[in-house]
Formats: sequence, C-alpha cells, structure tokens
Amino acid sequence: MTTSSLLEEAASISKQFDVSKDRLIAISNEFIRLTDLGLKSDGMPMAMIPSFVTGVPNGTEKGTFLAVDLGGTNFRVCSIHLNGDGTFDLLQTKSVIPRSLMVGTSKELFSFLAKKVDEFIKTHLDEKFNEEGGHAANEHIYKLGFTFSFPVNQTAINSGTLIRWTKGFDVADAVGKDVCQLLQDELNLLKLPVHVAALVNDTVGTLMSRSYSSPGEAATLVGVILGTGTNGAYAESLAAVEKLDKSASALADKSIMVINTEWGSFDNNMKVLPTTTWDDAVDLETPNPGYQMFEKRVSGMFLGEILRRILLELYEKGHMFSKASTPLTTAWSLDTSILSRVEADTTPDLVAVKSIVETDLGLPTTLIERQAIKVIVEGVGKRSALLAGAVIGGILVHTKACQSNPVVDIGVDGSVFEFYPGYEDLMREALKDVLGENEKKVRIGIAKDGSGVGAALCALVA
Ligand code: ADP
Repeated sequence: MTTSSLLEEAASISKQFDVSKDRLIAISNEFIRLTDLGLKSDGMPMAMIPSFVTGVPNGTEKGTFLAVDLGGTNFRVCSIHLNGDGTFDLLQTKSVIPRSLMVGTSKELFSFLAKKVDEFIKTHLDEKFNEEGGHAANEHIYKLGFTFSFPVNQTAINSGTLIRWTKGFDVADAVGKDVCQLLQDELNLLKLPVHVAALVNDTVGTLMSRSYSSPGEAATLVGVILGTGTNGAYAESLAAVEKLDKSASALADKSIMVINTEWGSFDNNMKVLPTTTWDDAVDLETPNPGYQMFEKRVSGMFLGEILRRILLELYEKGHMFSKASTPLTTAWSLDTSILSRVEADTTPDLVAVKSIVETDLGLPTTLIERQAIKVIVEGVGKRSALLAGAVIGGILVHTKACQSNPVVDIGVDGSVFEFYPGYEDLMREALKDVLGENEKKVRIGIAKDGSGVGAALCALVA
C-alpha cells in the first residue's frame, strides 16, 4: 500500500467515528425521551433507578463513617472522617476476593466481608473507639455505606434485593435477597457496632462526594462514571419520579431524589447511536451482545478493543504492519490507556507512539503507520467524549438545571475522564451543541475517592 493511501484509509476510518451536531442533538433528545419513560414505569429501556437519597451535601457535613465497596475483584473497607469544610480523612484497606467465594454461598461471601470489616475496626479504629466509649459497650454505632455495583432492586435507602450477579460472580442463593441484610446479619454475628445505613450505587456516590467537596456554593447535580464502565446519576425532582410510591414516611417533605440512570444501556435498539463494523464485531465478542450499547461506545473496557479490531483489519488487508503479534490477534488485549498515550504524543516523529506499539503490541512501525494509528485513535476517543457530553447535556435539558442555577456542577470519576488528553474539551463540544450558550454555566470536576466518601455521605443522610 502506498504511503498516502494508508493515511487516506486511516482518515476515512476515523471519519466513520464522527458524530455530527445534528446527531448529537438527536441523541440528547432520545435520551430525554427514555428518561421520561423510565421515570414513569419499571421495565423501561433505561432503568432510572431511585436511590432513595433525597438530598445532596453542601460540604458542612461532619462525622466518622464506615464504607465498604464490593464491585469486582477487590473488596474495600474504609473509614471516612468528614471535617465539615469540604475536606475529609480516609483510611482504606483492600482485599482480593478469593475466586471460590465469588461462586460459593452467600453465607461464605458475606461472612468474609464481615470479617474484613472486623479486621479493619480492630486495626484502625479500636483504639480511638475505646476512647470514645468502648467497643464492647456498643455505645457508639458506626453507620456504614455499602457500595454494591451489581444490579439491585432498591426499595429503601438501606435495602435492595439482588437482581443478578455480573463480572464473574455467581452466588446463586443471594439472588432475590436483600444484600444489606445479608451483610448486617454477618456483622451482628461478630457483634460489631456497625449499622448498614445505606446501599449505594457508585455513580450516586460520585455525585455525593463531588457535592461535598466541590468548591463554592453550587450543589453538584450530576455524577458520572467514565472508567471500566459508564453510568450517570442526577438530582431529580421527587414529583417527577412518577413510578415511585411516595406515601412512605421517609419521603414526606422531601423534594428531590437522586436517580441512577443506568445509561450504559441507553439506546440498545440503536435508534440514534452511531455504529461501525468494528463496534458490531466487538459487540459480538461480549457475553451480552445487543446490550449496554452506549457503554460499548464510550467506556474504557471497550475503546482499546475497538482500536485493536481496526488495526487487525488493516494488517489482514496487508495495509499495515509487516507481521502479526499475539496482542494484535488476541481479543481484549489492548488497554484503553494506549489511546491516551498515543493522543499525548505530539512529537513530529511520534516517538512515544513507536515505543507504545513496540511494547503493547510487540510490533515495529513506520512513521506513516504511526500517523495512521494516531488519526484512528483520535476518531475513537473523540466519539466517546462526544457521546458522554450528549447524554449529560440531555440530563441538563431535562432538568432545566441551567435555567435555574448560575453554576451547574458535575462530578466525574474514572480513568477515561481523568487521563484521556482533551476529554473534557471534547465533552464540552457536545454540551455546546446541546445546550448552546448555557454550556458556559457547566462546571465539570473530578470526584476523588467517590465510592468511599460518597457511601459515607449516603450513610449520613440515611
Ligand atoms: P474502575 O472503573 O474499574 O473503577 P478506573 O476508573 O481506573 O476503574 O477505570 C479503568 C478503565 O480505565 C479501564 O478500562 C482502563 O482501560 C481505562 N484506563 C486506565 N488508564 C487509562 C488512561 N490513562 N486513559 C484512558 N483510559 C484508561
């Protein structure tokens, strides 16, 4: 293949990842339509799950809380001391969940989790605890926020039944049970002075932690995850959550409810989302083809694999690389960080790209090949950020947040947002298309330690 034709081909591939202004507006409108549907009834394309969190913090909250996070390969236990001025102190331990417990009984799994909480308290808190009143006397009960990143049917701030396991877990007898109760029972058996006060989705936790620590007066109205997966939560007017029975006393006098959108599954029927042949191929490699279609175009789990598919096709056509390599031909072998690192290289000879492709793909490159890779990466990464911006814009149009607030704060957690060069600027391009001038009112910032601090804050408001 000639030099110019490889670059032309790369440009034409990259162009297939373009999303026009009209398309971004259509995406935002469809998102708003599905938001409305999901708030009306259960079983809709976007789940719009009420979190039972009915307020967002303003930074003056105080106290010491426990938080645990079960979301994947690790179980984290932390204590969070909120200083009441937007700052906090956090102590954390992390343990790997033994594979056998991921597929065993609920008793085995939850007693393991309770033991880790016990160890944490003994190691980090007991001394302080005895000063405060004594562990044995149980005078001080720690409120605990439980971040549980699996699908649950939440029925109150501290109860929710497990719908199904994901991410390699398969503890059959826990399905249909209240996961907070399962944890509380095991904590009680160990006589720990801990009350499971809140069941927290990580995106809700992100919103809460950002709202606590965000500078200035503005409350945070949207929390976003852009990491392995993607999801968003936002503060909705309680009256708009039509599907929710509001007769419960806990909801009396409340005006807002934080909603977990589960936007990873936005537009699974592909009415407005853009697609390419490489997206379709990646979808077929997943255990859930046809589901999580928004997430599969946006989040870190997928961007590396989309890139690998494109490069493999170019190699197979004889248009790039002099040989194949195991990473090139093995599904899921490219981490999304490769895209960030390629984007960051602005040298004329793309020297960093050269060493990245050598180490991550085990392949030598010509300058033209590196230029082609860069053009393709820019297309894949830009589309991710534009799509994320379009749905965030959809939320702000739906809530009329820009009309009623001088500053609209958005908290984001996740390596894709944090480390991808220029990601926020690209998100803002889509926000401008959707919101016009109001984009200037939007402030976007990182929510640090979202899951721990967010869970603590949910336990506090519970
Ligand atoms: P998690 O979402 O699992 O809690 P992270 O927020 O760290 O954790 O996200 C992990 C995802 O981010 C992975 O899919 C990984 O490929 C991707 N990732 C890690 N580093 C970077 C980076 N520098 N740029 C872009 N994506 C990254």
